[in-house]
Amino acid sequence: MSIPANFLRPLVLSGPSGVGKSTLLQRLFAEFPDKFGFSVSHTTRSPRPGEIDGKHYHFVQKDQFRKLLSEGAFIEHAEFSSNFYGTSFATVNEIQQKGRRCILDIEAQGVRQIKGTDLRPVYLFIAPPSLTALRSRLRGRGTETEAAVEKRLNAALKEVEYAKIPNVHDIVIVNDDLDRAYQLFKQVALGEVITGDTLPPLDD
Ligand code: ADP
Ligand code: 5GP
Repeated sequence: MSIPANFLRPLVLSGPSGVGKSTLLQRLFAEFPDKFGFSVSHTTRSPRPGEIDGKHYHFVQKDQFRKLLSEGAFIEHAEFSSNFYGTSFATVNEIQQKGRRCILDIEAQGVRQIKGTDLRPVYLFIAPPSLTALRSRLRGRGTETEAAVEKRLNAALKEVEYAKIPNVHDIVIVNDDLDRAYQLFKQVALGEVITGDTLPPLDD
């Protein structure tokens, strides 16, 4: 059986903090341990309980991040909620050399920068069913202080405004019911499906 053309392109996953990106990715990697490679970003934020250095992120200090940046290590990078995040060339190359589909989980400033590179990924936006649902998920996760939650919600509004620009993303998946969203996400990740959901109004 031939490999679908889209499977060979990297997949850029974005969406507001708390929408369920990590939850969907965790399921995908558990079901297909050998097909995909997660682009492990560098970040200056502190690890959350259960997060492993080198698996979820490369956790670095701000001066280390700045040094890597000055050496040209990153394909893209951004400041998000008072921390730096970046995707290194080395990480993406390593995954591609293994013949796995590279999946990036990045925010909107990074998406903009990737559009100026020759990576040619498929852009997938994970949308919440409503802003009210997003707020309750972000608070419910319980990993951030209320001040940090507020910062992330502000960033979420920008993320949604960007997603509303026509053709910014190739595919949208609404993470309403997790099982339904996962089935669609899986097909998109495998390159089997290229049409998703319609972006909800997200004006509540
Ligand atoms: P992100 O990686 O996008 O920041 P997470 O995957 O950490 O988001 O999910 C944020 C919270 O929302 C978690 O507590 C997760 O269990 C929950 N969650 C994820 N998907 C759904 C869903 N479809 N319905 C309800 N809660 C969800
Ligand atoms: P979190 O702190 O919740 O893990 O991530 C916060 C935001 O940073 C999320 O929107 C996530 O997609 C984004 N992010 C994670 N890694 C990178 C990266 O390397 N570059 C960019 N631009 N954003 C990233």
